[in-house]
Amino acid sequence: MDEQDLGDDITTIHATEAQIQHRLTEMAAEIDRDYKDRELLLVGVLKGAVMVMADLARALHSPVRMDWMAVSSYGSGTKSSGVVRILKDLDTDLKDQHVLIVEDIIDSGLTLSWLLTNLKSRGAASVEICTMLRKPEAAKVDIDVKYVGFDVPNEFVIGYGLDFAEKYRNVPFVATLAPHVYS
Ligand code: 5GP
Ligand code: MG
Ligand code: MG
Repeated sequence: MDEQDLGDDITTIHATEAQIQHRLTEMAAEIDRDYKDRELLLVGVLKGAVMVMADLARALHSPVRMDWMAVSSYGSGTKSSGVVRILKDLDTDLKDQHVLIVEDIIDSGLTLSWLLTNLKSRGAASVEICTMLRKPEAAKVDIDVKYVGFDVPNEFVIGYGLDFAEKYRNVPFVATLAPHVYS
């Protein structure tokens, strides 16, 4: 899929397919180095993190465990509600595990800050965060995000796992959704 296939649904492209894959290789190298003496459990946050999880995990040089959680915060709208609900919990016991949360995007940071507290309370040995995208608002929240792919402007973006009402997740790049699509 390319830009032409989306017509006027998108405005600016923030990360191309090639840029994403290149950045993932760099992030994977950092993660490999940081966890060389520890077994790693990747926790992907459904559904947005499916693409980054699949590509990041395959870019790593060591075998890892992978598990998934589904939480809700946005519903089908475009604003964070701050209310987080677990829709699907992990199958793995986190006791003494080194956990790396894999996220698609940090916007307000509300979801992640809740998730961080929740996962730490289960007795994990360590919990770090890896996100493909980060918006400026995230800087206002006191969360230590160890691995960040790209910073994007404060606009509603789609692609590379990110949806609008479940659509556009399969777009292989990240772009701003044209406001006429959702207003
Ligand atoms: P936060 O709690 O950090 O505000 O955002 C939580 C979730 O909202 C993200 O994991 C993501 O699923 C969704 N989200 C935030 N910003 C955007 C955006 O620009 N586009 C899309 N499609 N989802 C977003
Ligand atoms: Mg997410
Ligand atoms: Mg969504």
